Amino acid sequence: MSCILCDRIKSLKELDYPLVIHEFKNSYLMLGEHQYYKGYCVLVLKDHHREMTDIPSPEREEFFQEMMMASSVIEKVFKPKKMNMCSLGNVVDHVHWHFFPRYVDDPHFTNPPWLQMHHFNSATITQDMSAQIITRLKAAF
Ligand SMILES: [Zn+2]
Repeated sequence: MSCILCDRIKSLKELDYPLVIHEFKNSYLMLGEHQYYKGYCVLVLKDHHREMTDIPSPEREEFFQEMMMASSVIEKVFKPKKMNMCSLGNVVDHVHWHFFPRYVDDPHFTNPPWLQMHHFNSATITQDMSAQIITRLKAAF
């Protein structure tokens, strides 16, 4: 099975992907390619599975612990009012979780983050900005 996330993971092993924050046993935590929600990250399972229920044990339980660790680190650094964790997979059916920190000054706080996705491209960040955020997140592990 191959998909856009399998290809990205394969390329991570061959060359340094600049947005990698942390390599877990079963997943990679990467900074999101936009920062419309400051601290937005994506956790990508290394193996291709379509559903959480397809992941064998003990990898699924280990992956859950990795999700918790990733969320804790993002919360520690960015101090959001609420963390929104989303796993859909309708576009890319390789298990991955989006972490959207949500803040008190968010005018759309009660809405799902996807309702603002038309703004995401306006919040792409420079390599310098992403390097600074990644350094802060790495230090919190
Ligand atoms: Zn895949």
